[in-house]
Amino acid sequence: MHDFHYHDGTLHCEGVNLTDLAIQHGTPLYVYSANTILEHYRRLSSALSDLDHHIAFAVKANSNLSILKLLNDEGADFDIVSGGELFRVIRAGGTAKKCTFAGVGKTREEIEYSLNEGIYCFNVESEAELRFINKISNELNVIAPVAIRVNPNVDAKTHKYISTGKSENKFGIDFEFIEGLYETASKELKNLELRGLQMHIGSQLSEVKPFVEAVQRVAPLAQKLKQKHDIKFFSIGGGIGIAYEDALASGKDSWWQENDQNNTPLTIEEYASELVPILAPLGLKIMLEPGRLIVGNAGILISEILYKKVGTAKTFAIADAGMGDLIRPALYQGHHEIVPIQNTSNENETVDIVGPICESGDFFAQDRELPKLEEGEMIGMLSSGAYGFVMASNYNSRTLPAEVLVSDKTHKLIRKRQTYEDLINGEDL
Ligand SMILES: *Cc1c(COP(=O)(O)O)cnc(C)c1O
Repeated sequence: MHDFHYHDGTLHCEGVNLTDLAIQHGTPLYVYSANTILEHYRRLSSALSDLDHHIAFAVKANSNLSILKLLNDEGADFDIVSGGELFRVIRAGGTAKKCTFAGVGKTREEIEYSLNEGIYCFNVESEAELRFINKISNELNVIAPVAIRVNPNVDAKTHKYISTGKSENKFGIDFEFIEGLYETASKELKNLELRGLQMHIGSQLSEVKPFVEAVQRVAPLAQKLKQKHDIKFFSIGGGIGIAYEDALASGKDSWWQENDQNNTPLTIEEYASELVPILAPLGLKIMLEPGRLIVGNAGILISEILYKKVGTAKTFAIADAGMGDLIRPALYQGHHEIVPIQNTSNENETVDIVGPICESGDFFAQDRELPKLEEGEMIGMLSSGAYGFVMASNYNSRTLPAEVLVSDKTHKLIRKRQTYEDLINGEDL
């Protein structure tokens, strides 16, 4: 479900006209729909109502303070992967008590900061890290709450760069070693509290099967660890995929259903109905860490077509946004539906939509048939709410775009466009 639709030939986000918004704030511009974000969160929560469940939003998908505040006010927990993300959650009005800290390379500084703030749990990804957290906790004379991330060795059937649950991925600890490690920890590592068990097999999963396989494999382990070590929670990670193709079936209200059938066989309801029966008997608190599902379809990147260039092999439409603003196509062949903000043309054209950056990988679409675009027209890259702005960079010394949050008929600038001064901030001659 999302809240982008044409009204009188102009794309709107909720009740806000995106042409007006882009003129007011300039392009490239990220725009998010608050109601879409909340709807996704609530729909997931209600599908899991039979479980003692906690939804920890994966902050790395979209870490804007206003988005975090929106979810914090709604009651979300947070899954973080750095000290910087913890800092953001706290600034947005959240607390460390609501955060689980994942990631393979936590530093001393990050561990100390999290302990001082009272983190809910570290999700530990190696024995060395487990021992290091114990050592720091001993120095600080505190007890660190930890869970171990198990690598269940299942194939998530997603892009190899976003698959995390196979033995050859760097994430988690092999299934075979987990019980032994909880034993060791409980006997030797006196500054740890074994609070849970965690897994996360990958991102943008488009079918429920790998989730079921992984949960079936790991649930008995969670049961054992509950009996032996009194763990309190089992986190099954995030990774629920969203529809990227046909993300806007113009004029149709039933967008989500359309796509559930055509592109995304995985729905929230299917996910829940398959997993809840396996999880409920555990009697553990069940945690989820969705990122993309919550914010992905809630965002759009608006860009202006600067130039058209007709060559012998191709027609290029050169946009003022590039891979520095949205890197998913360049990084892992991510697909974004591209639509005109002003739906005027009834002629189609096969084009490459490219950015201004000096890299041949800087494109949003290749050989795609789109409504014919003119110079000065604005386009929208749909489903850009997750892993969009958060991955933006200043490469080519381009300023980071502005971000706007829409709610019904109102909109708020939630991040100013960077200035040239911002670009050199911290540098010294
Ligand atoms: C990235 C990540 C998530 C979120 O993944 P999505 O595909 O955005 O749902 C959840 N848990 C962990 C540990 C992650 O690294």
